[in-house]
Amino acid sequence: MNVGVLRELEPGERRVAATPESVRQLVGEGLTVTIERGAGEAAGYPDADFVAAGATVVDSIAPGELEVLAHVRPLSVELIGALREGAITVGLASPASSLPAVAALHDARVTAFALELVPRISRAQSMDALTSQALVAGYRCVLEAAMRLPRFFPLFMTAAGTIPPAKVLVLGAGVAGLQAIATAKRLGARVSANDVREASADEVKSMGGTFISLDLGTADASGGYAKELAEDRARRQRELLTPHVSESDIVITTAAIPGRAAPRLITAEMLLGMKPGSVIIDLAAETGGNVEGSVAGEDTAIPLPGGGTITIVGMKDVASTMPFDASRLYAKNVANLISLMTVDGKVEPDFADEIVRGASLTHDGAVTHEPTREALA
Ligand code: NAD
Repeated sequence: MNVGVLRELEPGERRVAATPESVRQLVGEGLTVTIERGAGEAAGYPDADFVAAGATVVDSIAPGELEVLAHVRPLSVELIGALREGAITVGLASPASSLPAVAALHDARVTAFALELVPRISRAQSMDALTSQALVAGYRCVLEAAMRLPRFFPLFMTAAGTIPPAKVLVLGAGVAGLQAIATAKRLGARVSANDVREASADEVKSMGGTFISLDLGTADASGGYAKELAEDRARRQRELLTPHVSESDIVITTAAIPGRAAPRLITAEMLLGMKPGSVIIDLAAETGGNVEGSVAGEDTAIPLPGGGTITIVGMKDVASTMPFDASRLYAKNVANLISLMTVDGKVEPDFADEIVRGASLTHDGAVTHEPTREALA
């Protein structure tokens, strides 16, 4: 059976769903792999490396020829319409925000697997693209902050005087937040963090951060996720966070609630107490923003009452800004899910398997993911 990889169509997307390493894995499973010419170029994977790994590189692939399509971004309705019945797709599908595409997958009787839906169980960790891409985002957002901060991160003791380390505050300590803590620590900053999940205090400490306990109680939902705070607790959280925000040089926000808009952790008023030159990085800018006034893909300068400005950075398409390693991890996630479903060189999903069933979005003319089916009804 053949796995095809098209050039990604979304403007600015530099990742690719296969790398030479993942091609070797798929070929080892008895599959063939066809790559559209130049599909890996923006990520740093030349066509020749794919050929050396055992893939065939062609000028273009007609969607109707695809048996299995590995992709990064959610597929367009037009592309889905050109797929043949029974084709298998594996990639990010963003079901909650791409309902027309889900309807098109259903109508085209495509068997679609959404990497966002891979269950977060130990056995599925190697297929968890949310985790692998959040790791990239958590690392990158610290570098973005460091480049904008007019100060050093580490402590410097010099003949001309001692420079104290930068203070970094991380709000939301999931995969991205924990990686941000680790990266800021490596650069020498003093890092503190807050999250509403019970386990997060120990996780923050294990990364070398100081956990800020706000005495709000915990907000754990199923599957290790957080649930939304009621408005009175959310307001209390903002009040209690205000002095921590004021004394920080950098604030990185990564808080998210599955299926909901990002919780508002920082209001415009809270920012006014910060020092001139401080930087706020909002990793949740694309899903509504943790920070009032953040705009995805833009830097916003906020004037302070006493003079000077601070900068809010609304992050967008972060994983795509480090396409080589983001693709390396992503392609491995894709190949591992395809390998799980491959028997004797044929991709044959076994829906009795918890991971296969969990990641399934559409199959055989039905929407198999219940919340998406309900949203479409
Ligand atoms: P996420 O991207 O959904 O959210 C980011 C963080 O925001 C979470 O830690 C969440 O608790 C936090 N948050 C939500 N509301 C907040 C608020 N008001 N204030 C502060 N923080 C707030 O998170 P994620 O990175 O997907 O991780 C979610 C959970 O899944 C974690 O428990 C993580 O350990 C777990 N996980 C498990 C696996 C696995 O077992 N395979 C893989 C990855 C993550």
